Amino acid sequence: MLSCKDVTHLASDYIDNNMSGTLPWKMRLHLVACRCCRRFVKHLRITKKVVPQFVDNNLSEADAEAILKKIKAPD
Ligand SMILES: [Zn+2]
Repeated sequence: MLSCKDVTHLASDYIDNNMSGTLPWKMRLHLVACRCCRRFVKHLRITKKVVPQFVDNNLSEADAEAILKKIKAPD
């Protein structure tokens, strides 16, 4: 079983499908059992999606704040 520390380290590769062997399964197993890591991965996924847009579009500070609010919003 992966620890929460392992999951936070591996989360980026997990989202990018950059894992091999049984690791993705171990990740999934941990995420099913651990709500904290589930939230972490979810937020990281949103951040990864939003940040390139933020850089590309040169958004204003108000837009950035709206995005941050979206990221922090509860599920
Ligand atoms: Zn965890």
